[in-house]
Amino acid sequence: MKCPYCGFLDSKVIDSRPTSEGTSIRRRRECLSCQKRFTTFEMLETMQITVVKKDGSRELFDKQKLLSGLYRASNKRPIDPSAIADSIESELLNGLVSEVTTAQIGEMAMEKLKAVDDVAYVRFASVYREFKDVDTFLDELKSLRRHRPRRKKKVKDGE
Ligand SMILES: [Zn+2]
Repeated sequence: MKCPYCGFLDSKVIDSRPTSEGTSIRRRRECLSCQKRFTTFEMLETMQITVVKKDGSRELFDKQKLLSGLYRASNKRPIDPSAIADSIESELLNGLVSEVTTAQIGEMAMEKLKAVDDVAYVRFASVYREFKDVDTFLDELKSLRRHRPRRKKKVKDGE
């Protein structure tokens, strides 16, 4: 976002909130060069979030990619992957950052899955955290059981 005072291209976001119509985001920015502040209105559909990958390379946030991971994890589970992807996307857009790491997105997805479905969570986590071996995987399962005593018996889904 170009500074209207000095033309510098880099600024930091100091406040970010959706407009009342919900179609754009109003952002207060501070120029990294002259420190002057200005306001921008960014349309939701044109806003771009940069994702920093593990190898340091950058790409634009791709909701489809996130969705396909979520679908894989939620296979035959009673959850809606697109609702989870939507809420992650809007959290990213409403946030103060324009760059996130793949790890951060993974953590967000895991948080949300954990709240709704253990099986989907563990499936997703096993891919994202790259569990080194079966023991790590079982430890994670055990800690889930400890922290969340089952209220009622569920039917196993055969996995
Ligand atoms: Zn400036």
